[in-house]
Amino acid sequence: MEGRVDQYAVVGHPVAHSLSPFIHSLFARQTGQAVSYRLMDAPPEQFIERVSEFFAAGGRGVNITLPHKTRAMTLASELTERARLAGAVNTLAARRDGTLLGDNTDGAGLVQDLTVNLGVRVRERSVLLIGAGGAARGVIAPLIALAPRRIVITNRTAERAVALAAVFAGLGALEGCGFAELAGQAFDIIINATSASLTGELPAVPATAFAADTFCYDMAYGRGDTAFVRWARELGCRRAVPGWGMLVEQAAESFRLWRGVRPLTAPVLAALTGRNAELGAGGAD
Ligand code: NAP
Repeated sequence: MEGRVDQYAVVGHPVAHSLSPFIHSLFARQTGQAVSYRLMDAPPEQFIERVSEFFAAGGRGVNITLPHKTRAMTLASELTERARLAGAVNTLAARRDGTLLGDNTDGAGLVQDLTVNLGVRVRERSVLLIGAGGAARGVIAPLIALAPRRIVITNRTAERAVALAAVFAGLGALEGCGFAELAGQAFDIIINATSASLTGELPAVPATAFAADTFCYDMAYGRGDTAFVRWARELGCRRAVPGWGMLVEQAAESFRLWRGVRPLTAPVLAALTGRNAELGAGGAD
């Protein structure tokens, strides 16, 4: 490892699209921390070896993105409660004794963006969570902690939504169902945790789920509005936003775990959305 600069990386496959190096370089500059953060492309069969080598050479932490978030759990000697509940790790931190702590900051990132940046009240409101993949799973426990009236998980493959609801059944009022079963129900908050927007597609949720006051959040982000954000607006929703804030907030939580200081996110979010209005970007971190 070069010099005394602490080394960090984001590991994924593919990973070239990741905005994490840009975000963490702004965090480092803002907080005066001497860190280096780079991209690490590792196919699934090399993931464990590459990350182990990185830490053996003195690396201090990694972020993990698709498709490695579940496998990353096996590298951690200890998991935070939120990583255990999420069933996935997006942050590994080296500890003094050389062991690794596994955390998952995605749910905290979403909650921070929703409740603080966007001022959305979740308490006593109805929430529709679309999708039953890793991102959906990671946000369920943090959303339940905000005491919504009910959370309905819906998914193209209905059985996955039902199974996911069953995993968290002990924590709060949760239901799982397919898209068709939503007919006639409207929600206060709709969160799209599918990857449909990445290919310009829409989840086939009935339009009746959306009302003018429904707050819509797409975890996906990209140049301009995502397909889901456009659709929600066409359906008359007054507030529909893409997932830039979640991206920056989950990164800030990782930075805090590694460096003990939580950077300000507003200037980074502004820099990122300004930059991508010009360049175009998308994907998941
Ligand atoms: P994943 O584990 O691969 O899950 C994909 C989910 O999307 C599944 O529920 C799948 O349904 C559904 N899906 C895919 N295409 C669909 C379509 N055309 N119509 C309806 N449903 C469709 O992916 P993930 O890790 O959960 O990520 C999901 C999204 O969250 C991605 O867009 C990612 O970029 C975003 N994300 C954003 C952040 C952030 O910081 N903003 C963080 C994490 C993830 P089936 O089960 O039926 O296949």
